[in-house]
Amino acid sequence: MFRDEPSPDVVVIGGGVIGCAIARELAPNRRVLLLERDRIASGATGRAAGEVTMTPSYPNHPAIAAHANEFFRRYDATDAIDYVEIPSVEPVSPDREETARMRVDRLRNEGGDGGLDVDFLPSETVERRWPALELSEYVGAVRFGETGYLDPSRLANALRIDAEDAGARVETCVRATGVLVDGGGAGGGEAGTVVGVETDRGTVDCSTVVAAAGWRTRDLLTPHLPIPIRPYRTQCVLVRSPALRPGSAPMGWLPGPDIYFRPMGDDDLLVGGRSAAVEDPESASRSADEAFREHVATVVPDLLADAEPVHIVDDWAGIDAATPDTRPIIDRPSAGPAGLIVATGFHGRGVMTAPVAGTLVRCLIEETDPPFSADPFELSRFEDRSADFPFVSISEGG
Ligand SMILES: Cc1cc2nc3c(=O)[nH]c(=O)nc-3n(C[C@H](O)[C@H](O)[C@H](O)COP(=O)(O)OP(=O)(O)OC[C@H]3O[C@@H](n4cnc5c(N)ncnc54)[C@H](O)[C@@H]3O)c2cc1C
Repeated sequence: MFRDEPSPDVVVIGGGVIGCAIARELAPNRRVLLLERDRIASGATGRAAGEVTMTPSYPNHPAIAAHANEFFRRYDATDAIDYVEIPSVEPVSPDREETARMRVDRLRNEGGDGGLDVDFLPSETVERRWPALELSEYVGAVRFGETGYLDPSRLANALRIDAEDAGARVETCVRATGVLVDGGGAGGGEAGTVVGVETDRGTVDCSTVVAAAGWRTRDLLTPHLPIPIRPYRTQCVLVRSPALRPGSAPMGWLPGPDIYFRPMGDDDLLVGGRSAAVEDPESASRSADEAFREHVATVVPDLLADAEPVHIVDDWAGIDAATPDTRPIIDRPSAGPAGLIVATGFHGRGVMTAPVAGTLVRCLIEETDPPFSADPFELSRFEDRSADFPFVSISEGG
């Protein structure tokens, strides 16, 4: 199917939010072909909660968080997406108050100019500001600014449309079966040079491949480059309660019960959590487990002002790629074949990190400096590249 087309400069494998963000960045200056085995956003992207919490997620790298936050604000202004910027709160139990206040003090001194937008609010202040919440079991909450949410599928498709408008070719229902490498070899030491991509519809010649195939990226790169990622499953439920009204709830994170939440629509709360590594991602359930539904049904009413039980109106689960330290791998690794770029392992934060991935991959190809440090994303930070590492949830991994 590719024979009559001019060869692309770059093949991007994977039409999730990461592949689409990368294709959009590259398309103005390069012939880009994006290959997606199914539909755009049919992987983790289409299951994601859409939270953007880059500021609390990268407290030591404010330029990384700022790059993503500024992108979402700018993109929202074009109407390509609807980015709702609202604070995120982390309720604090009495035994954790001192630690939480110390953390707030520390974070206010980090994050470059003027520190992070974070403070400690007493429970009454939180309840006045967000009347859906009832924090009687807590002394207050840590409030982070510069957080928000968006629709992940809409984001991926908007990025894809921009990429196509700029000349990229997007082929869905085409599966890449391997990266073609000249020279080097499985045990050969010399890693060789990328010369194309093999697919179930024929071979494409190209000198640069961006592997952005989510949790399937490790298999795709065998035998050329082992990367330490493994699939994990994470879950969401949608709850409805009379306490919820437009603007009545912030986003948030409950450290003890280990769940996060954000408003969805006018009167629903999207609640997510319970992540665990899976051995057989292909056959993993796409619904939330009964145990997680029950957990949410127990925990959430204690958080809400209305005493009525909540109704669970929907639930789902999805598979993403985990790394040992919860940070993604966005790199042109010297250990791999020349021309291979890896963008995977987004570990529960791929939607919010997509603008960073797009910019960094463009800079790697153009050999220019990105406007933030690329160090947290380098493959060389891992000595052990096996997939047999303990899964760490992002709440533990920072
Ligand atoms: C339930 C859930 C909630 C989440 N909540 C959030 C959140 O609130 N905020 C956030 O930032 N992140 C969140 N995430 C994480 C986020 O969804 C992922 O990190 C992100 O979508 C990863 O994007 P990706 O493009 O790398 O992977 P994917 O979206 O999985 O895309 C990879 C694509 O590659 C395709 N592909 C795979 N192999 C091949 C091949 N051989 N050939 C061609 N195509 C191939 C797949 O079909 C897929 O479409 C959540 C994830 C889940 C599951």
